[in-house]
Amino acid sequence: FENLLTFHHQMEAVSHIAAGVAHELRNPLSVIKGFLQLAQLTNDHQKYYDTIMSEMNRMNSILEDFLSVSRKKMERRWQSPVQIMNSLTEIMKAECLLHDVEFKLELAETEKQIYVNESMVKQVMLNLLRNSVEAFGESNSNRVLSIETRVQEENYIIQVMDNGKGMPESVLNQLGKPFFTTKERGTGIGIPLCKKIIEDHGGSFRVDSTYSIGTNVIVSLPLGT
Ligand code: ADP
Ligand code: MG
Repeated sequence: FENLLTFHHQMEAVSHIAAGVAHELRNPLSVIKGFLQLAQLTNDHQKYYDTIMSEMNRMNSILEDFLSVSRKKMERRWQSPVQIMNSLTEIMKAECLLHDVEFKLELAETEKQIYVNESMVKQVMLNLLRNSVEAFGESNSNRVLSIETRVQEENYIIQVMDNGKGMPESVLNQLGKPFFTTKERGTGIGIPLCKKIIEDHGGSFRVDSTYSIGTNVIVSLPLGT
């Protein structure tokens, strides 16, 4: 009986995930289809290229998120946190530019390394970036996203701060629950996944947020010698 119950719960989870993936992918897919049709009708292909590309990237990261929930093994290497952050700056800048967000970056130098799966750490950063970008309302004219890193004791701290809409108590209380989302097009796996990835790396993940003021996510990863 217990097995049956577990199975039922698992199937429920699977169907939830399947529905989430389908729902999430349908939207960018239809945008891509529409833009390809438009591109065919006109000669101005360049105009549609950026949107198609960014929607493809969006689909890719959604699939990445869903896949990594079930991914078991995690290959890690010693790597420079500064290098990892540097290799993300171009894509983060582009994303901010695209969404009319001012991007500030302050990276602390260190010779020390972190023991990580690089693509997972990047995935965390891109998830946080995406959440921040999505937290800016239409009316918010002074949109700033800032990323600051520092070395604190034996840890590399990465802070992702935005002055977006912030979270009320009711949202903060639910944050981290799988599939919790306040967005029409949300999956609710971004934050739980980020938390899991960072904790699997022996680090810590914290979210501070004030409603209508902004959000500050603090990621801490242990440094080697
Ligand atoms: P999703 O982005 O698909 O909704 P997440 O797990 O990434 O799922 O985030 C869960 C919820 O947490 C979001 O729906 C949103 O309400 C809230 N949230 C996350 N990041 C931010 C942020 N930077 N600013 C405001 N709200 C946020
Ligand atoms: Mg998200």
